[in-house]
Amino acid sequence: MVVRTERDDGTWYECEGCGLMFDEQEDARQHETNCDAEDPSYIQ
Ligand SMILES: [Zn+2]
Repeated sequence: MVVRTERDDGTWYECEGCGLMFDEQEDARQHETNCDAEDPSYIQ
């Protein structure tokens, strides 16, 4: 999922799966859609 992070230089949106940071929530959401780290199917 996408986590909002407040920092001195503004608000960031972090992909909880892989840790990538985005300055636009929409960018983070689009990334999340394609992020393999969000898919737990490989975990046994
Ligand atoms: Zn990701």
